[in-house]
Amino acid sequence: MTINSERLSPLEISPEEFRKLGHNLIDEISNFLETIRARKVNPGESPESVRGHLGFRPLPQLGESPSAILDHATKLLVEHSLLNGHPSFLGYITSSAAPIGALGDLLSSSVNPNVGNFQLGPLATEIEVQTIRWIAEMIGYPADCGGLLVSGGNMANFVCFVTARHAKTTWNIRKEGVGGKNLPQMRVYTSTETHTWIQKAADLFGLGTDAISWIPTDSRMRMDVSILQSKIEEDKARGMLPFLVVGTAGSVGTGAIDPLEEIAEVCRRHDTWFHIDGAYGGFAAVLPDAPRDLKVLDLADSIAVDPHKWLYAPLEAGCVLVRKKNILIDTFSYHPPYYKFEGLSHDPPTNFYEMGPQNSRGFRALKVWMALRQAGREGYIRMIAEDCALAEELFEIAGRHPDLQACTQELSIATFRYVPRDLDKNDPNVVSYLNELNTELLTRIQNGGKVFLSNALLNGMFVLRACVVNFRTTRKEIQDIPEIVVKDGNELDKEMRGKFQPAGRCIP
Ligand SMILES: *Cc1c(COP(=O)(O)O)cnc(C)c1O
Repeated sequence: MTINSERLSPLEISPEEFRKLGHNLIDEISNFLETIRARKVNPGESPESVRGHLGFRPLPQLGESPSAILDHATKLLVEHSLLNGHPSFLGYITSSAAPIGALGDLLSSSVNPNVGNFQLGPLATEIEVQTIRWIAEMIGYPADCGGLLVSGGNMANFVCFVTARHAKTTWNIRKEGVGGKNLPQMRVYTSTETHTWIQKAADLFGLGTDAISWIPTDSRMRMDVSILQSKIEEDKARGMLPFLVVGTAGSVGTGAIDPLEEIAEVCRRHDTWFHIDGAYGGFAAVLPDAPRDLKVLDLADSIAVDPHKWLYAPLEAGCVLVRKKNILIDTFSYHPPYYKFEGLSHDPPTNFYEMGPQNSRGFRALKVWMALRQAGREGYIRMIAEDCALAEELFEIAGRHPDLQACTQELSIATFRYVPRDLDKNDPNVVSYLNELNTELLTRIQNGGKVFLSNALLNGMFVLRACVVNFRTTRKEIQDIPEIVVKDGNELDKEMRGKFQPAGRCIP
């Protein structure tokens, strides 16, 4: 085979063609964004039906034209996706994506820097460094902290977990591991409301989930700090090593914020690493009237926040912040000690591969950096405050409705449930029926495609949950929710009441 200077690659696209394809794609995306409000938030199709649209075909033997592929992919994605950019998408904690992020992703993958080390992505590295500093400034964390972007909240919490494990062990854990016979048993403390990343972390990093000490919560789902305190003391007396306490700034279920200031004090007294999972709520610290405990994030040794939640970055973007940058580097770097850059008179280059598990790294920072510039601090304060105000309004409307019970509201999460007005919700015989009814109701609402809600469990009570991390949501979408829920609820109640025979007495 000869390869001459006019090598024609099957993947090359000429500049003229790229320009045409790109303009066309941008037109299609603009149409999609323009019509998103009129679309169903959830197409509600079964896996078989979705697979059917794609068609079963073996790996193509020969290539196809880029324009046919782009047209096909655009049509498939627009018509058969769950639209988290829809103003009525209020499920889980997934935000509407800022359009500038889509443009940023196109730009970053076009230039394609490898942000693993400075040399391979010099400008991209400095943009990520600046992004980390801006995020720290935004939430009141020391701006000279260490940090990096990862794929999401789970990964950000993992990085902090491993950093804590390294920082608080007296032996060389990177070399000797956790399993030595004469090593103390390591313990981590966290509330029962903590996201499931904590089990994955305890499992993945060799401690096992039995290393987790689950601390109960109070009536507002906040960690009980006096129990935390006594658990740590008991474990210490038994020769164990309490190395990490995880506080949550905005729980995934109800948005609960642990008493972070009190937890920090316990950690200080016991020389334990204090990590805050702020994946959801961390950015609410930017609000001038943020809850008091969000104003003390700087007390944490490390914190995880999720730009793909309240910074509205397109997936994926999570962020790690560690107060002492050198500890983060000591945890992940495989440079020998004489190769340290700290303390040199001139600026050492930042190499992100030394601060986390990844080697080659994409340029996630660009979309986040662009959104931070487009909205600015003031813009984010407004969007986050509005999201919270909308959740508050939903909570109030639900509270006034005769067929709804308002349950909790913290940050931008409101929970409530459907309670047919002739049933007494306090009657123990009705309790399990209401759980069944609301579980079925959620499925019906989700498949209906008018609004997308998810659920939470409050001490065994199944409730509907709206989480507003959506700059497109207005009061109209919020005010429409009770009618949608109650209409579906009434229909379902008629269908289910006979089957489930709630023994409870009816209120005439
Ligand atoms: C969303 C969330 C996570 C997980 O983050 P991903 O980005 O989904 O990986 C962890 N903790 C909390 C509190 C969250 O809200």
